[in-house]
Amino acid sequence: MKIVVLLGPPGSGKGTLAASLSEHLRLAVFVIGDALRAAIDAGSKLGLKVKSAVEAGRLVDDETILALAREFLRTHPEGVLLDGFPRTIRQAEGLRSLLSAEDDLHVIYLDASEETVTSRLSSRRVCPGCGEIYNMRFRPPKNDGVCDNCGVTLIRRKDDTEEVIRERYRVYLRETAPLVDYFADGLIRVDGNLSGDKALESVRGELCPA
Ligand code: ADP
Repeated sequence: MKIVVLLGPPGSGKGTLAASLSEHLRLAVFVIGDALRAAIDAGSKLGLKVKSAVEAGRLVDDETILALAREFLRTHPEGVLLDGFPRTIRQAEGLRSLLSAEDDLHVIYLDASEETVTSRLSSRRVCPGCGEIYNMRFRPPKNDGVCDNCGVTLIRRKDDTEEVIRERYRVYLRETAPLVDYFADGLIRVDGNLSGDKALESVRGELCPA
């Protein structure tokens, strides 16, 4: 089973890369943040449990996240692309314990500066219909404020406010950045300051050798 992990600070382009890479690799993508936001919108038991952490930019507890990841891996034995998991050493250990010797794990690290991510996130908009990600400064929609794919009005994520963006970055440095060393062996490093197309180009060769 092929498992591709996308690691990097919030706003480093994990979501954009996950979308294009999943097409190339034909892997199912698990976007943990989207799963949590969908649960919050639906008002489910999971949603109620994680709402305050997600909206404040804090991490959800490891047990809850590991249970979601375990279920996704179990139901997608053909291989997966993981966007937003693992985010702590404990989650990384949990992932390792789910893999067997035949599994093929690749970790892509999108390395972007705090300035890049802060400026991207503060002008990010997303389509609540299809999930497409826009940026009002660098990649605006063709028609003001609506999705190019489905015409739905774009929204700003609740956690894309200046204060929460700063908190998410602090949490990233404290909890997630240590995973770069944890996975140092074979880590695929990508310049997260690059545009989406260039980032895809730079990992494609490493993941799908001709
Ligand atoms: P970003 O990478 O842009 O911060 P995500 O959509 O990946 O955004 O995550 C949004 C929020 O969901 C996080 O701030 C956190 O509250 C929660 N979350 C996502 N993935 C995890 C995880 N692996 N562990 C704990 N919390 C998570």
